Amino acid sequence: MAHPTEISISPTANLGDHPVLEFLNTVPLIDGQLQDLFQSDADVFATLARIGYPATFHGTGLLAAARTLREDLRSLITARKAGNPLDPKALATLNRFLRAASSYLDLIQPHPGQFALKKVWSHQTPEQALAPVAEAAAELLASGDFDLIRRCESDTCVLWFYDRTKSHHRRWCSMASCGNRHKVAAFRKRRSEA
Ligand SMILES: [Zn+2]
Repeated sequence: MAHPTEISISPTANLGDHPVLEFLNTVPLIDGQLQDLFQSDADVFATLARIGYPATFHGTGLLAAARTLREDLRSLITARKAGNPLDPKALATLNRFLRAASSYLDLIQPHPGQFALKKVWSHQTPEQALAPVAEAAAELLASGDFDLIRRCESDTCVLWFYDRTKSHHRRWCSMASCGNRHKVAAFRKRRSEA
């Protein structure tokens, strides 16, 4: 009997609903332990492709650069969310990646009479491969709606998401996991109090 093809998919895929939050969400809390899904350059390439910034950089050092950028972005976004001053060292890291960026715009014509701008990135270094994430993060920090940028409410979850629901009442990274766990716990609590 043929086995179904095994596909490795991040357990946190797409819950963030924003490329930068997806990037942060590559360190989920699993069974009480933070697990870094970035263990190799290939992991970083896969995530960059998944969040819409495929990179073609052929070299080394991507993993270390990605972890540095990610953790400094986590510090900046956490501080911005709390209304605290940004850590100057983390801000300097972000600006270092922004300055490394090399990109230009192409005017493209997807259909006759329709025009669009496409940003083309150069990827000569790890910093350049990660520059689109840095740029999206800078835009998020400057003009994102931090009322809608939230952490999952579960005590056993560290995932971020951008709440794009109409009601803006999203509480969980995922209804299927954290939302459901909360529902079951609340039900058990009610039953034990009855
Ligand atoms: Zn969660």
